[in-house]
This record gives sequence, C-alpha cells and structure tokens, in this order.
Amino acid sequence: MQYFSTRGAGPVSFDDALRQGIASDGGLYLPESLAEMSHDEFSYAESPADVAAILLRPYLQGSALATSLDEILTETFCFPIPLRLLRTGESSFSMLELFHGPTAAFKDVGAGFLAACLTRLEGSVDAPLTILVATSGDTGGAVAAAFDQRPGIRVAVLFPEGRVSARQELQLTCWSDNVLSLKVAGSFDDCQSLVKAAMADKALASQHRFSSANSINIGRLLPQCCYYASASLEHFRQHGRKPGFIIPSGNLGNAFACLLARGMGLPIGPVFFATNANRTIADYFKTARWEPRASIATLASAMDVGDPSNMERVTKLFGNAESLQQSTDVLSVSDSQIRNSIVADFNEFGTITCPHTATATQVYRMLGESKQREHDWIAVATAHPAKFETIVEPLVNRSVPLPVELAAILSRPSRATEIRPDLASLAEALEGQ
Ligand SMILES: *Cc1c(COP(=O)(O)O)cnc(C)c1O
Repeated sequence: MQYFSTRGAGPVSFDDALRQGIASDGGLYLPESLAEMSHDEFSYAESPADVAAILLRPYLQGSALATSLDEILTETFCFPIPLRLLRTGESSFSMLELFHGPTAAFKDVGAGFLAACLTRLEGSVDAPLTILVATSGDTGGAVAAAFDQRPGIRVAVLFPEGRVSARQELQLTCWSDNVLSLKVAGSFDDCQSLVKAAMADKALASQHRFSSANSINIGRLLPQCCYYASASLEHFRQHGRKPGFIIPSGNLGNAFACLLARGMGLPIGPVFFATNANRTIADYFKTARWEPRASIATLASAMDVGDPSNMERVTKLFGNAESLQQSTDVLSVSDSQIRNSIVADFNEFGTITCPHTATATQVYRMLGESKQREHDWIAVATAHPAKFETIVEPLVNRSVPLPVELAAILSRPSRATEIRPDLASLAEALEGQ
C-alpha cells in the first residue's frame, strides 16, 4: 500500500509516512485506497486487537513492519475498551470507553501504536531518534507514556509553564531518562513554534535526528479505526442494527478514524461530531465556507481547536460540506451546556463524564426523541473524568476515584527542565542529556 499527501505529494511507503509525519508539501498522508471489508471477514475476531489484525493488514502491505503486526497490536491494545449500555428501549444508547489506557485518554491508542512501530523501525539505528512534541495537555502525556523506556528513542515534551493542570503536569514529568520534560516560559503557541524552528534548523535536526509524533501522523489515525470497527461489529452482531456514533471532536482525528472505518464497510450509521464552542466545523456545515480562526478556551480544553487540520483529510476522501451532510453532522456545545450535561449524565445514567465526553452525551440529548429512536447511538468517552476533577467534582458533588493507572503515574517523582522559548535554550537542554 502506498500513501499520498492530501496535496498530491507521494507516493511514499507506510514506513516513510510514519517517519515523516507531515508530507513534504505540507499536506497530510492518506492511503491510496480504502480496502473494502465484509463483516464475514471478522467472524472470528473478538477483541479490538483481533479486529485490528484483519483491518490493518492491507495498510501495512509492503512495510518492514508487516510481519510484526500481531506483536505491535498486542502492545497497542493492552487495556480494555468496553462498550457500556446506558439506556435500552426502542433504540439503545451506549458509551464506548476509550480511557482505560496508561494516561486515561483515547490518545493512548494512537500513541501506543506509533511508538510500537517507530521503535521497530528506528530503535536499532545507532544514533537515537529524538521525538519532539509540543503539548497543551493530553497529547504530551500519551506520547511520553508510549515511548517511556523504549530503546533507541528519546522524547522531548515541551509544555507551557503554568498553563497545564497539576495532574496534567505530573503526567508530563514523571517518566524515565529517555523522556525529557521541558517546561517552557511561554504559551502553547511558543512551544509549537519552537518545535517547528528546531525541525527546520538543519544542524540541530541532523545532530538529533528529529521526528514528530503529533496527531496528524497517519500512524496515530489508523489504529483508531479499530475500536470503531470492533464496537460496531459487537453491536451489529447483538442487535442487527448499525449504530450511529457521537464523537467529541477538536482536531478531528478521532472522528476521521470513524469515517475511515465506515468507508471500509464496517456497520456504522450516521456519525456526529460533537464540538465545544469552537465553531469552525459547525459553521462550515452551515455555510459551506471553510473559515479557520483562533481557538477559544473552553472547559473541554483538549478540543480547543480553531483550525482542525484533519478536515483536509475528511474533505479529500468524503467530499465537501454538502456531500458530508448526507451521513455526517456536527453540533456545537457551550460551556454551560457541558456543565449541565455532566450533571445530567450522573442523574440520568449514573455515570460521571469528563467535559469532553459530556459534549457527546449533550449532542445525544440535542438530537431529540425522534432522531434518538431512528438509530442505536454510541457516545464516545475520550477521557476519564478524574483527569478533570476540578471541573467535574463540584458538579456531581462527590470525589471521582482515580483509576489505578493514573494513580500510579501521579505518585511518581516529577522532574522538568525549565527553558526559555528560544532555540538556543532548547538546543542546550537537548545537549545536556
Ligand atoms: C484530543 C482529545 C479530543 C479531540 O480529539 P481530536 O482527534 O483532536 O478531534 C477529545 N477529547 C479528549 C479527552 C482529547 O484528549
């Protein structure tokens, strides 16, 4: 299988698409075609890892990793991904819990797969690879956890001082020697600019063999198709109905993976993007004009994206606003609706949701009774509520128990190197290790 950029560059192999992250023309990599799968091919597949072994095989054809796929998937899907029924009746409502991984957010799946792949591709090369990640919270933790103690690979996580929550900071600073946690005296944008400047600096880039692990890497998106495939097959086998999915969305990577799974022939009904008050996608569906803007801060902070880069992939594969609207929709949820939704989820379903997940359950309510009845629906839970305890606990009036994985991380010693937001300071920190 070959990969092409959304802007035309290519073809490149799967392995090179993974190594490069972003294409040379600034576009995002996509497989040359979607392999059509019939449900029968999955008859004996039980777990997400089983489903993934069948679903991903065509995409790794010709890759040096093809023969290690089973091993890579065992490492990636090393935690449960339960589909939990919240309500039955004429139609059902369930929740797909993606937050049982090491850092309690769905990004653990993509980061874990990418780490398992890159370690095999690059880990035995003499000069170690340095992965640079700028993070405003969740991404950096998932990537650091995934690469922790991987031989031949070092991760430098750059995060803005004073702008991440206490628990997020611990998740960024508690790892082994191959993870360098850099606390930058600046904003998230400064962190991102520093990563770009470092990658563009020829001398520094060749000295450290930089790579990136941000969410536009196709190696993070493909494994995400697998939990949609697995959950939709499980639901279809039990009920004979294709479930619709409601997905908390920011940069649109997770929702794009669901569209990919549907495009491959998996039994998936309508797909709803649930966004926060950042309305770029919602306005595009209304006006058919793509108008990116600066992001605004909301309670669902991991979805504060004003220019969702994966839209370029969505429109390339599935068409413009008009054709998308036939099987896809978007609803925007305000901060006060997020708060109400967290309370309602607790009262109606007895479940405590994080602010991101609460956008999806709110969209389910906004569908109204007749649309709720038309399909079975699955809301996607993207993070554990204990990661956002300062928002959630006062609303449900009780403390949210920490999952064991998270408690283990939070009890470790933390260390970070403080740097200024300039290239010299970053170079010095990378040198010092
Ligand atoms: C990253 C993230 C999202 C948004 O996912 P995208 O793929 O960027 O749309 C939603 N919820 C949580 C908890 C996240 O960490």
